[in-house]
Formats: sequence, C-alpha cells, structure tokens
Amino acid sequence: MILRIVPGGDADTEAPAQGRLLRREEVLGWLREEDQGRLELLWQAADAVRRTHVGDAVHLRGLIEISNYCVRQCGYCGLRAGRRELERYRMTAAEILACAHQARLFGYGTVVLQSGEDYGITPGWLADVIRHIKTETGLAVTLSLGERPDGELANWREAGADRYLLRFETSDPELYRLIHPSLPGRPSDRVAMLARLRNLGYEVGSGVMVGIPGQGWDSLAGDLESFRALDLDMIGVGPYISHPATPLGSGDWRRPLPVDAQVPNTELMVYKTVALTRLLCPEANIPSTTALATINRESGRELGLMRGANVVMPNLTPLGYREKYEIYPGKACINETAEACQMCLRQRIEAIGRHVGSGPGGRRRGGAGW
Ligand code: SAM
Ligand code: SF4
Repeated sequence: MILRIVPGGDADTEAPAQGRLLRREEVLGWLREEDQGRLELLWQAADAVRRTHVGDAVHLRGLIEISNYCVRQCGYCGLRAGRRELERYRMTAAEILACAHQARLFGYGTVVLQSGEDYGITPGWLADVIRHIKTETGLAVTLSLGERPDGELANWREAGADRYLLRFETSDPELYRLIHPSLPGRPSDRVAMLARLRNLGYEVGSGVMVGIPGQGWDSLAGDLESFRALDLDMIGVGPYISHPATPLGSGDWRRPLPVDAQVPNTELMVYKTVALTRLLCPEANIPSTTALATINRESGRELGLMRGANVVMPNLTPLGYREKYEIYPGKACINETAEACQMCLRQRIEAIGRHVGSGPGGRRRGGAGW
C-alpha cells in the first residue's frame, strides 16, 4: 500500500498518494518541508508511484547538442545571442548521423537533437537528417530546438520526429517575461506552443528550473500544477545554475524577493520538486537531469532516480563541441567520451537495483508497470 502523506502530520495509510489528492497548500507544505523523517516519506511515496506506473526500467536518451547558435536573449543561459565571446558551432549531418549510430550500438532507444534557437538549422536540411536517422537506426527522435514556426514543426513531424521538448521554465508570467524576452514582433508563449505540438502529433515534454532568482514558493507550486494540467508526457526539472556571463547571473536583471520568499536553487529543492512531479503526474517520463548531476556529481543522478525519476540522458555530443555548449558553468560529463558516459550510467543504474530499459520508452497511458 502506498502512503498518503501529509506534510507536518502523521502518515495516513488509508488512501494512495495519487497526484489529484495533493491540494495547493499540501504542495506548498512539501516544498517547504525540512524534516528529514517527513521527507523520507515523500521519497518513498514518489518511488512507489514511479514503480507502479512506469516500472523499474531507466530509459536512456542519447543527447546530441547539434548547435550552440541562438537568436534568443534568455537571461539565464550561457548560449544567449548576446554572449559574443562564445565560439559557435553547428554539427554536420554526417556528424549527427554518426552519433545516432553510436546510440543504436549502445542500445539507447532515443536520440535527442538539442540546440539553441538556430535558424541556420533549416527545415529541409533537418527533415533530411531526421529521415536518415529513422531509416538507418529506427530510433525514436526527440527535438529540442526552441520556438520554431509551426510549418517547420509540421515538416519535421512528417519526416518522422516523435517528440518535442520545450520547457516553459516558470509558470509565473511576470518572471517569465523578465528572464525570457520575446523576439521583436514575436511574443514568446511556450505553453501555447506545447498545445500546438500536441496537435501536430508529437509526444510533448516540458519543465522548469528550480530556484530561478525571483521565483517564489507559490510560483513553483503553480509550475507543478501546470505539469498536471498540461498532461505532459515528459517533465524535466533541474536546478537553476547561475552563469556569471548572463544578466540573471550577474544580477543585472532581477526581481528582488525577501530572502524567505525566494525558492533556493539547492539539490534538496530539486528532489522535492521531482518527487512531487511524480506524485502529480504518475505516468510521465521524468529525467534525472544533468544539472542535478552537476550540483551533486557523486550521487545526484541516483538520488533523482530514487525519488521519482525514470530517464537519464547520456551525452553523445563529440568531445570537441561539448565545452562550447556551455549553458551553465561546470556542467557534468563534459570530458567523458560517449562510451565512458554510457558505461558509467549503466553501472550507476544497476547499483541502485534498476535496469536499463529497451525500446523507445515513450509514454504508456493506463498505469500498468512495464
Ligand atoms: N534552446 C532550446 C530551448 O530553450 O528550449 C533548447 C536548449 S536550452 C539550453 C535547454 C534548457 O536548458 C532550457 O530549457 C533551460 O531550462 C536550461 N537552462 C538554460 N540555462 C540554464 C541555467 N543557467 N541553469 C539551469 N538550466 C538552464
Ligand atoms: Fe537560446 Fe534555449 Fe539558451 Fe534561451 S535557453 S538562450 S532559447 S539556448
């Protein structure tokens, strides 16, 4: 039996911890919970819900960071257009295909093509790359390329792309406008774009950063409620990591909050958010993120997997490009070869009594363990 857990109170063994039972004040209570014993109940409940709904398999998605060009000026991100000193790169089709073949050899079910919002990645060129990946490897293809026009998204879906990842970053509209400025004449509305992606037939993933300067408790609770309302197939949550060469990192852009009102960007906050995400969205695929592994290199990935997550994204990007994809400083796994990354992750997954999943590992509706 799964415990229904009440922050600051006694465990109640009568009802299962289904997400729909968590009200806003309960979510807020858990986000602010500091008692180790109570938090242990939260981890256990998230782990039990994970096991029931998505099983013990950990799905590996090979990440290929195909370009670090970006037209956006996000206040948090080291790839922002304003970072003139960053050397830019765009991988060739042959390089991307070689990574996809490597993913198949390693037994991964999916490749994720990620980049800045780079219009040097043209629709026809990428559609060809997607078609080659599909016909030559049969892998699931996930795209994460920013806010591209609908026609291009339709084109890539037709070429065989299966999923799209686009974090809405925060559900707080004022904070979003501050940290993620619109482009001239093109207001940024990532939530609306998620609905359009769904209509085009993509599996849809989103997520947020935890501890963005200016992010309050209510705003993070709202993020969690949005995950459920949007019925997301994949949900990535990781810590905000300050980059000194960005306006949020330097403090040039800020929305000051009293110390007690600011959500901290700590490891513990991320675990609480991952665990609550699992309780609220039992069927979703939830990665244990690289950003989490960056703030706890020793055991961040494992602890994420033990507190609700069921996906890991090993890096396949050729070593020469990795350090140029510098969204935040000190990123984990920047110097390891793709082989070393996959060996290391397999060992870590097996060491916690889980196994590597086979096949594409898409969302399965209906809740049976698999
Ligand atoms: N350009 C695409 C987009 O914005 O969706 C995909 C690439 S972008 C680098 C992927 C994610 O990195 C963003 O959605 C954001 O959540 C995360 N990210 C960027 N800067 C970050 C930072 N300083 N700390 C933590 N995560 C960050
Ligand atoms: Fe570009 Fe994405 Fe970074 Fe924003 S988060 S600057 S869109 S790469």
